[in-house]
Amino acid sequence: MMDISIVIPLFNEEESLPELTDWIDRVTSSNQLSYEVILIDDGSTDNSWKVIENLRSKNPHIKGIKFQRNYGKSAALNEGFKAAQGEIIITMDADMQDSPDEIPELRKMILEGDFDIVSGWKKKRYDNTFTKNIPSKLFNAAARSMSKIQLNDFNCGLKAYKKKVVKCIEVYGEMHRYIPVLAKWAGFKKIGEKVVEHRARKYGVTKFGWTRFVNGFLDLMTIFFVGKFGKRPMHFFGLWGTLAFIFGLMVFTYLTISKFFFDVTGMTDRPLFYFAILAMIMGTQLFLAGFIGELISRNSIERNNYLIEQKTGL
Ligand code: UDP
Ligand code: MG
Repeated sequence: MMDISIVIPLFNEEESLPELTDWIDRVTSSNQLSYEVILIDDGSTDNSWKVIENLRSKNPHIKGIKFQRNYGKSAALNEGFKAAQGEIIITMDADMQDSPDEIPELRKMILEGDFDIVSGWKKKRYDNTFTKNIPSKLFNAAARSMSKIQLNDFNCGLKAYKKKVVKCIEVYGEMHRYIPVLAKWAGFKKIGEKVVEHRARKYGVTKFGWTRFVNGFLDLMTIFFVGKFGKRPMHFFGLWGTLAFIFGLMVFTYLTISKFFFDVTGMTDRPLFYFAILAMIMGTQLFLAGFIGELISRNSIERNNYLIEQKTGL
């Protein structure tokens, strides 16, 4: 049985790869670990793939997957997870900001601490304070409060997983930022954290621009809603839709009674009238959104895919 699979997504990182794989080889052989490195070339436009093929010809532990075009880090991780064979899967970035020296310790935590996931924590970061460090503190606070997972650094590229975790979760879009949340929804509760050494980027440039903020927050909302209401949209939209509608209806009843029984005039000049219309329209819309969502999820092929941990007698 193979001890570890190291999954590395990369996009235009030709300069780092030889150094990184050398370093991984040093660490794994000095710890007597059997391993594979899966390099996923996410549609690089530089010579990354040539470098990978060249490395592979010298070291059979190195394996590569090349995307036709740039699909994003999540897609690359997902493909790597599918291919991984090791008992423990470790992900890291290709830019040498994560140190392979952390591998043995991460593995030990999974094996001895019985964690499903151990996530790295870049406690001391070597990135730009304004574009990265401060926004990432906000992200992590939001992710913590939504997911109730007590991690300081959700988006650290360096993480270790039990094999069954990566085989159960699907990472897409920009969801790589929230893998611990996906894992939690899949039923893996034991999520640990380890302070890891973070280094300045040695070669190349960052691949994520300012759009990381917008996309990151939208994805957080998606994760939250899909996880909580994905299989029962009516429970969210139906509830609020009905409440808004009933509120509007009550206001109208009140206005109607005032007009016909108490001879109050000028109903359409009152703000309340417009509130009531708004509430009823919004209520109907929400209800419909929930209903359509429900119909869609009924038709989804995955509607009855549950992750089964064990069976007995079957
Ligand atoms: N990456 C990728 N596909 C992309 C963007 C990035 O595979 O579309 C890889 C990148 O090559 C690196 C890792 O994801 O190995 C993290 O990216 P980067 O270092 O640019 O992010 P940062 O450290 O600035 O957050
Ligand atoms: Mg980086």
